[in-house]
Amino acid sequence: MPDRINEAGGHWAIIVHGGAHEVPPEKASASRAGCLAAQQAGRKVLEGGGSAVEAVEAALRLLEDDPTFNAGFGSAPNSVGEVEMDSGLMDGRTLDVGAVAGLRGVRHPASVARALLRETPVMLIGDAARQFAREQGAELCEVEALISPAQREAYEEHDTVGCVALDAQGNLAAGTSTGGLSGQRPGRVGDSPLPGCGFYADNELGAVALTGEGESIARMMVAARILHLLARPSPEATSPDGALQEALQTMQQRVGGEAGAIVITPDGQVGWWHNSPNMPVAYQTSRMAQAGVFLSKTEEQDVQ
Ligand code: ASP
Repeated sequence: MPDRINEAGGHWAIIVHGGAHEVPPEKASASRAGCLAAQQAGRKVLEGGGSAVEAVEAALRLLEDDPTFNAGFGSAPNSVGEVEMDSGLMDGRTLDVGAVAGLRGVRHPASVARALLRETPVMLIGDAARQFAREQGAELCEVEALISPAQREAYEEHDTVGCVALDAQGNLAAGTSTGGLSGQRPGRVGDSPLPGCGFYADNELGAVALTGEGESIARMMVAARILHLLARPSPEATSPDGALQEALQTMQQRVGGEAGAIVITPDGQVGWWHNSPNMPVAYQTSRMAQAGVFLSKTEEQDVQ
């Protein structure tokens, strides 16, 4: 499919999050630094003319390596002490989706999801996902090796990661990566690898990634709701933050649950919102001299 003319006029944008949860004071600087480093990795790709998909993968890989976050190394173990990971990636240009669930013993689930993007299946699970990862030359490891020292000692609650990007060619992409909920039942899969729930990207509508209580997000198809809200015609047109706030409020009213979301519109507007105490983010567009890095929406509002 040929590239469209970038509605944002050749501009790029990227936002990453480090999970909707409470960030304890001792984790604040690591959360900021981790999000910023991931955002910078993605930004470099975009500045170099790379695609939104490449930028999202690059950012997620950094977050997966950082034990501050519940993805890749440092994933939250399930109720039997094992790490099972989920990841999803979507290309807004082609509407290709790659997702993996219940993946064990792979360092970068986001890269496995990326490798699946151009294949026919939308999702692979468990041992079959690991077999696919092996065939693709993904970095395999012992299941145990993904449990960080902090997780081993204290079963710490970290959180899921996500990234959304717009490249200079006008293409959007969204991705998520998670170890799921701490102590979850083996085999439990949340919203993160489910398109329309935990993530979605469509060049015509926008790209979005979610974090939070996966059952609530999935039951309300929150990613799809957000994009429908953004597509509302004028004069009711909603700002990106407004659409996220409305979708999360509806979720809370109907089924309850804490969550957060990040979004980029086809014309390059960046939005984020959460109903959890914190959601670390880092974002930048080609119109911004430097990145914004915040632990909560109120922190951003305070500096504006
Ligand atoms: N949404 C993820 C899940 O339910 C968890 C999270 O975002 O923290 O698996």
